[in-house]
Amino acid sequence: MAEEIAVYADSYREARDHFLRAARRAGAKHQAYHHPSERGPEGEPLFLDVSVLGPGNASRIFVVGSGTHGIEGYPGSAAQCAWLRSRPRLPKDTAVVFFHAQNPWGFAHKTRVTEENVDLNRNFVDFSKPVPANPGYADVHSLIQLQTWDEPSIEAVFTRLDAFRERVGEKAFSDAFNGGQYSHPDGIFYGGAQPQWANNAFREAVETHLGHARHVAYLDLHTGIGPWCEHIYLCFHPEGSPARERARAWWGERAVNLQGVTHKALATYHGTIIDAFTGLLPEAEVTTIVVEFGTLPRRDMQRAGMAQRWLRFEGHRDPVLAAKVRRDYESAFYPRDAEWRRAALEQSREFIDRGVKGVGASG
Ligand SMILES: [Zn+2]
Repeated sequence: MAEEIAVYADSYREARDHFLRAARRAGAKHQAYHHPSERGPEGEPLFLDVSVLGPGNASRIFVVGSGTHGIEGYPGSAAQCAWLRSRPRLPKDTAVVFFHAQNPWGFAHKTRVTEENVDLNRNFVDFSKPVPANPGYADVHSLIQLQTWDEPSIEAVFTRLDAFRERVGEKAFSDAFNGGQYSHPDGIFYGGAQPQWANNAFREAVETHLGHARHVAYLDLHTGIGPWCEHIYLCFHPEGSPARERARAWWGERAVNLQGVTHKALATYHGTIIDAFTGLLPEAEVTTIVVEFGTLPRRDMQRAGMAQRWLRFEGHRDPVLAAKVRRDYESAFYPRDAEWRRAALEQSREFIDRGVKGVGASG
């Protein structure tokens, strides 16, 4: 058992080594997309790694992505490695493609965002057009700007946020807080002012490796929504669409009914990686799903979001406190608990198997 959870890494470099070794041993072909200008905290180079298991020209492809939100890539990477090590047998004319560390800067620096404080999962908007408006975010921003990180100040922020939520309602609150915003570069859930390097690399990789396929599914791995030690599904295909029915058939009713989701109302997200994925493959039948491994209650995750902002913009003034805040932040997205880590691996093996089987039987 201890050996099994050894796939969990403490650094980007270690995670990448584990992944590349597991992919090579499984016989996968590999292509690395090198970040030309950024490095990890130890000066290490950064990559989006793409590994293809099975025939590169397969007409059915199941894609597993990790690290859209940087730090969330540690459990995602472990799940990818564990599945590669499970000696899977693939259905015919089917390949499994792994996108490892979709936001490698955030992965290496153990934060959700990119080098420009951008949430990659809000960055896939068309920047040649006006960006989506989020008028509620200005209110949130003025409430969450903590200069001092201490319990009374954090409590005071939550009191004000609670009053704001009561005034506008759960849905408008989620839209404002985490739907994504394009107006405050020093804020939270910032979608950016231009495509990030990780955005361009992802699009290039999708076109290169998946452009020929007829049936494609993409499972994007995250952490932070859902109950501790359990996973939840987020399916954004509209009710009644064939893609939503495929998700239901492959993973069961829970894939589409928000079972276990710890948000009272989900925000309407803009510029997500799964929407970009679908848009890049107009000729294919595409199914996308997000899987979240649950960690802490929503309030703790909101606190983590504020901690991330404080660490980036204020933390340098108090390095001792920053180290403690950073540890709490990291464990909100990447728990150290062995039981949690085992549960995530066990569950991931099953839902990846189901997805591969589902796409393998398509057409
Ligand atoms: Zn995420």
